[in-house]
Amino acid sequence: MACIFCKIIAKEIPAEILFENDSAIAILDVNPIHYGHALVIPKNHHKDFLEVPENELPGMMHAVHVVARAIVKSFDLRGFNFFSNNGTVAGQSVFHFHIHITPRYPDDNIRFVLQLKRYEGEEMKDVAAKIRASIQE
Ligand code: 5GP
Ligand code: ZN
Repeated sequence: MACIFCKIIAKEIPAEILFENDSAIAILDVNPIHYGHALVIPKNHHKDFLEVPENELPGMMHAVHVVARAIVKSFDLRGFNFFSNNGTVAGQSVFHFHIHITPRYPDDNIRFVLQLKRYEGEEMKDVAAKIRASIQE
């Protein structure tokens, strides 16, 4: 078992565990964006969000809710982000799905550098139609 998060879940290597339920475990990220940056990790190994079975999602989101609330309370936050990197191109480095929760502070200068696009003509309708067609009932 090479997966670092599976080893943490199996308690083979240490981590600061914040919360656990049947589906998920929440730990402190060892290299935080800000102190308190947490990871919510499914107890079963799934490489990314698309591989997580639907029945594990409520437990995952419950853990995100509990931990986000606790982080906000602990640091008296005005805001936080939760996000997930899926795939190398999106910045994923540990291929066991996880959701990051990180405190945010005024002027902390953390931002995606975005070059926003504009839909022209019928493009927006076409893009929506393409995605709708891909959604399986
Ligand atoms: P990703 O880059 O896949 O979105 O996020 C992986 C995260 O896991 C990183 O933020 C990294 O700091 C964290 N991480 C990697 N190895 C360990 C570890 O052994 N323990 C803990 N607590 N966090 C880890
Ligand atoms: Zn794993």
